[in-house]
Amino acid sequence: MTFIADRLKRIKPSMTVGINIKANALRAEGKDVLVLAAGEPDFDTPLNIRKAASEAIDSGQTRYVPGKGTPALQKAIQSKFLNDNNLQYDLDEIIVGVGGKHIIYNAMMATINPNDEVIIPAPFWVSYPDIVLLAEGKPVIVQCPENQNFKITADQLEKNITDKTKWLMLNSPSNPTGSLYSKHELKQLAEVLLEYPNVLVMSDDIYEKVIYDNLEFATIASVEPKLKDRCLTLNGVSKAYCMTGWRLGYCGASKEIIAAMNKIQSQSTTSTSSISMAAAVEALNGPQEFITNHNKAFVRRRDLVVNLLNNIDGLSCLTPQGAFYVYPSCEGVLGKETPEGKEISNDEDFMTYLLESEGIAGVHGAAFGLSPYFRLSYATSDEILKDACARIKRACEKLK
Ligand code: PMP
Ligand code: GLU
Repeated sequence: MTFIADRLKRIKPSMTVGINIKANALRAEGKDVLVLAAGEPDFDTPLNIRKAASEAIDSGQTRYVPGKGTPALQKAIQSKFLNDNNLQYDLDEIIVGVGGKHIIYNAMMATINPNDEVIIPAPFWVSYPDIVLLAEGKPVIVQCPENQNFKITADQLEKNITDKTKWLMLNSPSNPTGSLYSKHELKQLAEVLLEYPNVLVMSDDIYEKVIYDNLEFATIASVEPKLKDRCLTLNGVSKAYCMTGWRLGYCGASKEIIAAMNKIQSQSTTSTSSISMAAAVEALNGPQEFITNHNKAFVRRRDLVVNLLNNIDGLSCLTPQGAFYVYPSCEGVLGKETPEGKEISNDEDFMTYLLESEGIAGVHGAAFGLSPYFRLSYATSDEILKDACARIKRACEKLK
């Protein structure tokens, strides 16, 4: 006998959240664990943003606010879309939620009928399939191997569209691979989508600002304006502004979808916190220079980790173009045995071995739908990254 609803049987808890909490708990118990599982910048929220939040508290911005966002935040988001992405959204085409994750959740709940299909290129961010399942949809996972830089091709997209397809999920730069879709690649996907007017596109742009090597970010609604009404352009303050705990994400989409999402929000969370909204206004309207400084640190750490990992026998790692993760292959260690005589048969075994033998916490590739890989976050100090790679090397050398 259980009190728990059947719908919960369809989903599993978030692996990225779970492993991160577990690894931090081990550290708190005094275990020597290096946590490379976190999906968040290690920098503090910039001072001007924190000050804006304190001022909001002191000036009494502590009451209910509109679920879609305060007028000041709605305007800041509208300008952001226009200035950064050349996207003109009316105010009733914008909504704020309790993080980007909540925006995706509300969008799926608002649009998916039972058995509607959602095309999810793998590797994917862990929450996509489970949110779709919660909404009674059917995730259609499309394997996007390393030799196509982990990105879906126009051909793969077309082959997977059926008369039940409701959404395509796009995420660039990607979590977990850091791959970036070029304008040209998005244009090719858009050409397919123009043929299928019933398909919506979720463009998860949450890592938009975390991009390297002078590459240019592009988002599909702007690359193909004829698709704009069918795109949901998702963004948030978690990654670019180091505000993961403030819980604020937003999107632009058609008036119809925004109104439906707002209806759900009005009967669930009402809104995110008024204080976070005031902080997000400052994040979007205030100085942006610190982003360049953060990216300088990230790119240095990326190069450090990619080089060190590629020097380890059994591992190989592509150079990501954005976000703060590497997604190395561990194919070369499969079939080997640990000193305790356990066989490494998959990426989960490998991550368990790294945690138990050397205290390295990362996330196995199976959680992101493409094996045999693992994700490490390099949003941590150079010292920790050097120590982590030395430990991984030692662990790999002990395998027989
Ligand atoms: N999309 C992707 C790809 C992410 O990695 C994250 C961070 N976990 C989110 C969305 C949601 O972030 P948040 O809910 O903190 O805005
Ligand atoms: N996006 C981060 C990650 O992938 C944060 C944890 C989560 O919400 O999944 O690790």
